[in-house]
Order: sequence, then C-alpha cells, then structure tokens
Amino acid sequence: MIVSDAFAGKRYAVLGLARSGLATVNALAASGAWVIAWDQREDARAQVAGKAVLGDPLELDLTGLDAVVVSPGVPLNRHPIAQRAREAGVPIIGDIELFSLARPTLPPHRVVGITGTNGKSTTTALIHHIVRIAGLPTRMGGNIGLPILAQEPLQAGGVYVLELSSYQLDLSFHLDCDVAVLLNVTPDHLDRYVGFDDYVASKARLFVMQSPGHAAVIAIDDEVTRRVAAQVPRARQVSAGAIDPAAQARWPALQGPHNAQNVAVAVAVAEALGISEANVGAALESYASLPHRMQRVAEIDGVLYVNDSKATNAASTAPALAAWPKLDRPRIHWILGGLAKSDDLDECVSAFPNVAYAYTIGEAGPLFARVLADANVPVKECELLVTAVAEAAAQAQPGDVVLLSPACASFDQFRDFEARGDAFAAAVAVLAEAAAGRMNTGKSA
Ligand code: ADP
Repeated sequence: MIVSDAFAGKRYAVLGLARSGLATVNALAASGAWVIAWDQREDARAQVAGKAVLGDPLELDLTGLDAVVVSPGVPLNRHPIAQRAREAGVPIIGDIELFSLARPTLPPHRVVGITGTNGKSTTTALIHHIVRIAGLPTRMGGNIGLPILAQEPLQAGGVYVLELSSYQLDLSFHLDCDVAVLLNVTPDHLDRYVGFDDYVASKARLFVMQSPGHAAVIAIDDEVTRRVAAQVPRARQVSAGAIDPAAQARWPALQGPHNAQNVAVAVAVAEALGISEANVGAALESYASLPHRMQRVAEIDGVLYVNDSKATNAASTAPALAAWPKLDRPRIHWILGGLAKSDDLDECVSAFPNVAYAYTIGEAGPLFARVLADANVPVKECELLVTAVAEAAAQAQPGDVVLLSPACASFDQFRDFEARGDAFAAAVAVLAEAAAGRMNTGKSA
C-alpha cells in the first residue's frame, strides 16, 4: 500500500467504497489522515470500520475538508456531490490525484500515463511488459488491475504505468506524467459530458497537467488526435501506418490495425524511457493478450473462436472485423449486439465485406439486424449469446472465424463485459466437448 506523509493530518471525505475507494481509505488512514467515508451499500461501509468515520458527505458540512475523493463511477455532471463540494470550496478528486500528491514522498520514479477511447488497457499492459522485459521495476494501475494506492511503492528507478480513463482525468489536477500518451478519440461516454468537445478536452488535460520538459506521444491516426497534437508541439507523433506488416506478423498477440497503433505508441514510449530496441523487440514477441480482447479461445473443426467482448463500441469492433480480411470468400461469423451506444455501425461499414454472416443479440439486436440487412450482410436475430454461438458454429466452415465483438455495452444481459466474454467461452467449451465426443465415437456432425 502507498503510505505518504503528504496525507498526514489532512481531512478527507471518501464517497464510494468499491475497490479504489476502499484502497483510498486504507492508504489515507495508514498515512495519518482523518477520513469520513460512505457507500450506499452497508457491506461496503462495514469494510472501513475502525479506519474511517461513517457519514454521507451529501448530508455533511464539507467546509474545511482538504478534498472529497470520489470513485470514477460517480457521474460528476449529474451527482449532487459536485455542487455541494463547489459551494464548500473543496476540490473533488480521485485516487490518481492522491497518488500524484504522494509522488514527491516516494523513491525517485517515472510515470507513464495512457489515455484514449480504445486500446488503453492493451497499450498499458504492453508498455508494462516492455518495461519489465527491460529489467526495470514496474507497476501497472489506474483503470486496470489493482488500485494504485493498494500497491507497494516501487524502489528508486521504477516506472508506474497508468491507464487513465477520462473520468479519472476529470478527478486529477497534479498528474505530471514523465511520458503522457493519447491513442485515439472517438465519441463515447457522451452521457457524462456536455458534448464531444468536452470529452476531447478531458483527454487533452493529460498534456495540460504535464511540465513542459516531459515527453508526450500522440497517435495521429484520427482527426481529433491530430487536432490535439497541433496544440502539444512537444508531442512525438506516431501512426499505425508506420508499423511494418512483416514485423507485426511476428507478434502473435498484437494482430490487426488497432494493435499496430498500440505498438507504434508503445515503441515511442519505450524510446522516451531509454529502453533498447532489442528489449522492445523481445517484448513485442512475448506479449500475451489480455482476456476478452481479441482473445483466441479455441479452434474447433478448423474454425477459430475469438472473444473480443471488450469491444463495447463500433470503433473498437471495426479493427477486429479488419483483422480477418476476405480471401476467396468472407470468413467472419460476427456476433454483435447488447446495449447500443449509437444507432448505427458506421465505423464498421468498410469491413462488412469480411463478414460471412452476422448474429445479433440483446437489446440492440433488432436495430442492428436492420442496419446489416440494409447493407446486404446476411444476418440472423438470435437474441441470446448461446443461440448465436450455436448458429455461428453450424454455419462456419473450416478456415472461418467466429468472432464475439459486440460493438455494444453488455449491461442489458450481463453484469459486465467480462461476464459476457466468459459466457461466450463457456458456450464454445460446450462445442469443443461435443467435437471431442464426436472424435472419440468416430461420428461426424
Ligand atoms: P480500453 O481499455 O481503452 O477499453 P482495450 O485495450 O481494453 O481498450 O481494448 C478495447 C477494445 O478496443 C478491444 O475490443 C480491442 O480489440 C479494441 N482496440 C484495442 N486497441 C485499439 C485501438 N488502438 N483502436 C481501436 N480499437 C482498439
């Protein structure tokens, strides 16, 4: 856990006691701060007993507190706590800001911060892997893995690699990254912002918070990031197009144009950190993909099954559809649907010729089935994921790919994208068992 003199004798309210909130209370209390904490769930409140006073910050006089710490899940644009804190003149911050405030008391280290609409987790995990292969002490945190305040501080010379969502950036004010990264920006999360420009500004604040001498890396593959880069002259501009396809063929877990972008960024970050090309090359070859992101779950009867459940918007599904181009025939059996974030699939249209057949699920199923039928893509409304997997397996021929890349959030049918990916893998496992059974009895399907 990160314990810091920076918090000693200070007074904080912590709202939301899930993982990062709980780690925050633990770190603040251990650092000698006074903490009042709250969560609407009683079991969550019970976990901070003895470390924090219990009290709902909405019912308190906030005057005199050093900060109100909220979880990134609290929608600041709608939640009354924002107004209350403003009236009391108390900043609203998150755990990343607390980490930033603790940094001067930690052994000398560097921080890499990564933001963007898509590819943050992959790029964060990839940079973490490169730094580790280079033999530097490193931790990965932020929007991925363990909350950063719950992790042991690094010894001198270490590198913290942080995935930063725009919600986390909105709650940070002193995060001066040694290397700041922007991957891409496409419309997402617009329920939390006044408009798209606000969302872009939230991402661009990562560079505003940096000291001028620190490094910045921006992938300029979209018009929005090009606009941001124009305002950050020190930024190193990189592009997916600069990655040699022959080299990319040697990196099994980094296929597809989207991963070319992630690699371009990671290579530039490694250079900024002074890591050798040989170490970078070895790391790209040995990187293993994160679960639910273009994860190959099985090959059955010559058909590959890929779990890309993390693709929750059309922009993140598009590169998955581009990863298996049409050969003599289209090869992708595409399972999509869930809770739609927009009523079109425009970003995916150029890859429609790669789709042999689409299978829709969830709330957006009927809508997307119409969109696809209008574009002459063969489509079947399946409603349930298990039905879609069974239908796809029945249609697919050897050499084809059954791809779950839903372009939608999961919450209409699943707890989260992980549960959706697990359900896909479970349905595929049933098919694999049946195939093994057929092999044992010598029967064909
Ligand atoms: P994030 O953490 O930003 O949500 P992930 O690395 O978890 O990003 O990837 C989310 C989804 O986006 C996956 O479906 C993945 O295939 C796709 N993706 C990964 N990198 C990129 C990228 N650079 N551009 C567009 N889509 C991407």
